[in-house]
Amino acid sequence: MNTPRLQIDLNKIFDNASMLVQRLKADGITVTGVTKAFLGAPQIAQTLLRAGVTFLGDSRIENIEKMRQAGITEPMMLIRSPMISQAARVVASANLSVNTEMAVLSALSTAAQMARKTHEVMLMVELGDLREGIMPQDVERIVQEVRDLPNIKFMGLGANLACRNGVVPDNRNMAELSALANRIAHTSGSCLPIVSGGNSSNLEWVFTGGTIGSINNLRLGESILLGREPLHREPIPGLHTDAISLVAEVIESKTKPSKPWGTIAQSAFNDIASTCARPEINQAVLAIGRQDVDPDGLRPPIGFEILDTSSDHLILNAGDEKPSVGSEIAFQLNYSALLRAMTSPHVSKTFVQNATISHPFVKTSDFAFQSDAA
Ligand SMILES: *Cc1c(COP(=O)(O)O)cnc(C)c1O
Repeated sequence: MNTPRLQIDLNKIFDNASMLVQRLKADGITVTGVTKAFLGAPQIAQTLLRAGVTFLGDSRIENIEKMRQAGITEPMMLIRSPMISQAARVVASANLSVNTEMAVLSALSTAAQMARKTHEVMLMVELGDLREGIMPQDVERIVQEVRDLPNIKFMGLGANLACRNGVVPDNRNMAELSALANRIAHTSGSCLPIVSGGNSSNLEWVFTGGTIGSINNLRLGESILLGREPLHREPIPGLHTDAISLVAEVIESKTKPSKPWGTIAQSAFNDIASTCARPEINQAVLAIGRQDVDPDGLRPPIGFEILDTSSDHLILNAGDEKPSVGSEIAFQLNYSALLRAMTSPHVSKTFVQNATISHPFVKTSDFAFQSDAA
């Protein structure tokens, strides 16, 4: 099997997604399964749909197009404001897009008229994190303007927190979104189909008894893939945190001094030479580096420690083990490491079912493999 590789357990992703879908259903909240961290890989998208997500959401039109080409016909949302230069592609492939700018909405309207289609839109509201969003006092006026645009259907409001400034979703900001949605519904005499409260960082608020109000959708990526909530990176009870792992191969394994010798200047990545109490360590060099992954987001197997990484090499203190050259070592990833590995052309993606990674040395035969993505 190719190394390095991301090993993606579709059964565990299914479990995570269906667990979240079921728990949120109890609060009247549907799930948009966010596909951007895996570039819209159709196998994963299909898994999310089987688990009961209502929409698929992606920030890139390319990923939405890829899922369409794979034959997925379910509703898809573009969850980043469209580029005007891509308006026609957005209307062609996405059912709905999130928006904050009239110039973009006009371009979507024009593109939708040309394509003889209706394009649905959700307006994002700024609630304090200062990334995307219309200032709350401007929302009602812009809703009116949007309702007048030909071939555009206003579907509701959304918000996104915790992505730029770490502003936490809570009863106060969620109540502000609900109140705006209620005012707009009252004016028009009909409920908003979608009030999308946020991303995985909203889960803590929901699961600790937050006041749901009119919120009826969340857009979830990280929590489904990694089984953790992003605010404190704590595991979400009942979810798998090992649905995805990164496997790299040992290319050198030697007992070496723990301290470098010679005159010491800066290294390629400005690291200070590591300090270690022992005079000698079992050092393993793995064929993976900063070109493939964000090494700060890797968690090695128990008993191992990541000492350093350069472009193409990762250096492990293997503790009491002496992994043989050619053996494979599996790491857990955080979101940043996952994003980089998913987008690296040097990391292959392998889909497995029911993988168990309980020991450091992964043997290929442990996995019943389903398919190998390009
Ligand atoms: C990435 C993204 C999400 C999903 O966030 P997770 O933390 O992965 O759940 C939701 N909404 C928007 C607008 C996003 O960009």
